[in-house]
Amino acid sequence: MAVAQAPVPLRPHHLLCSLTYRGEGYSAAFITGYDRMIETLAAGAPIRIVEGPDVICAPRLGEPDCHCHEARIAWRDRQAAADLAPCLGQALPPGTELPGIVDYLPALRAAFAEGTLRKACSGCAWHDLCDQVALAGFAGTRLLPPVPSIP
Ligand code: SF4
Repeated sequence: MAVAQAPVPLRPHHLLCSLTYRGEGYSAAFITGYDRMIETLAAGAPIRIVEGPDVICAPRLGEPDCHCHEARIAWRDRQAAADLAPCLGQALPPGTELPGIVDYLPALRAAFAEGTLRKACSGCAWHDLCDQVALAGFAGTRLLPPVPSIP
């Protein structure tokens, strides 16, 4: 009998970040944790939406420049949740469980490239990099194969 996978705890805006992640990050520990989480998502793990720091934030929480508890990041989560809801067909309050992200990737990446999922990215230090990743059709991203770029 197959063993059920534990849900991956993710704050809403990290659903967006997972679309463009190519292995860059704040530290070696951050990247190692991110890579592991991406592998888990790619294997079809369910997701549990959380409020505040999540599994991606974990390696950052002891660092002096950690921003994971800041109000502007909580705003980013609220904006991402609002914009993701139509794509996912459901609201994303904390505690929501999603069956996974794999089946949603083409639609989410198309919406990201079109800009309809980017309001949460306002002010993010990685914004230009994520623009470039989307323009390149998500080539090199760690989460499953890329989809064609939008002309
Ligand atoms: S711009 Fe920032 S918030 Fe938006 S997907 Fe990229 S890393 Fe995440």
